Parts: sequence; C-alpha cells; structure tokens
Amino acid sequence: MNQQKRITILSRLRDANPTPTTELEYSSPFELLIAVLLSAQATDVGVNKATRPLFAIAKTPAAMLALGVDGVKHYIKTIGLFNTKAENVIKTCRILVEQHQGEVPENREALEALPGVGRKTANVVLNTAFGWPTIAVDTHIFRVSNRMNFAPGANVDQVEQKLLKVVPAEFKLDVHHWLILHGRYTCIARKPKCGSCPVEDLCEYKEKAE
Ligand code: SF4
Repeated sequence: MNQQKRITILSRLRDANPTPTTELEYSSPFELLIAVLLSAQATDVGVNKATRPLFAIAKTPAAMLALGVDGVKHYIKTIGLFNTKAENVIKTCRILVEQHQGEVPENREALEALPGVGRKTANVVLNTAFGWPTIAVDTHIFRVSNRMNFAPGANVDQVEQKLLKVVPAEFKLDVHHWLILHGRYTCIARKPKCGSCPVEDLCEYKEKAE
C-alpha cells in the first residue's frame, strides 16, 4: 500500500472519531493497568462489569493487595482465566507497593517486568495512561493491518514495527484505538462489513464481502 493511501485511511478514521479512547473503564493508570491485564481473552464489556465493583473498593495497589488472591477472584470470576489473572494482579500489586511507591511506572522495562504484563499491555498503558506514541497490536489490529495491506506482517511484533515505521507522527498517538475500533465494529473477523466500510475504496483486501 502506498503512503498516500495510508494517510487518507487514517484521516477518514480520525474524521469519524477525532478523540478515540479505550472502551475499558478506568480512572487512573493503576486501574487501566489492571483492566488491561484482565482483558486477555475477555471482552471490554465483561471486564468493565467486573472492575466496576472491584475498583469501588480497591483503587490502589495497597488496597488491592489487602484483598488477597481469593478476594480478587470473587470479583473477577466471570472473566476467562480468572485464577491466573487474580494471582498476577496480586503479584503485580505487591511489586508496585514494594518497588514503585504504589505507583504505575512510566517505563517500559519496569512495566514488562510485572506478572501478567507483556509488551501489548505495556504499550496500552504507556499510550493511553501516559500519552506515549506506542502502538499495541492486538488481534484486531493484526487482522486489519494485514487485510487492508496497511502494515502487513507475519506476527504481532512485525506488524507493530511496520506500523511504527509507516504511521505519520500526527496519527501515532491514536492509531491504536482507530484500528481496534475499525476491527471490532467494521472489519470484523468472520465477515467484514465491506459494504459500509469508510475505507473500502482504499482497502487492498482481495476477498471483500458485500
Ligand atoms: S473494505 Fe472490508 S476488508 Fe477492507 S477494511 Fe473495510 S471492512 Fe475490512
């Protein structure tokens, strides 16, 4: 795909949604970190249902730590992989309390050292909580980037590197959200809604649906 096409695609997605953000509910970097950690193989709607009552009683790493693994499980048992996630939440909170003064570090290495936090989660937190121009590649962004031939790659790391290279600076902060929302609601996995897609004329997917 040529660069002019990419810029037109990004401009259209921006025009349709000038200030995109995550659909996860949070009110601090800590809450965002926990919500993203819980969101693997779960929907944002499902995570929000669990975190609303959880964050009402545990807004800080210290308060979450005081709940213990079983206490956290009680709130998140409707979410997939909740046993492992509860353990990771508590281990992460202990590190935040003991090594980071109860704050979420604005530092990739420190974030990726937290249990249950990989590159994607670190990218989301750095981008959405701290305003870094990072691009977290999830299943939606991976699919959309390849289908459109916008930033093709064989795995999420390759797509991330390609996006970082081809997305102009003015779009970098928000491209993660535009592509996720595009993948979640229009360019959906099973049958993309090409007939109502705002970038259909620019997309290079060879098997477009009606
Ligand atoms: S035209 Fe279809 S395949 Fe291409 S981006 Fe739009 S929905 Fe996805």
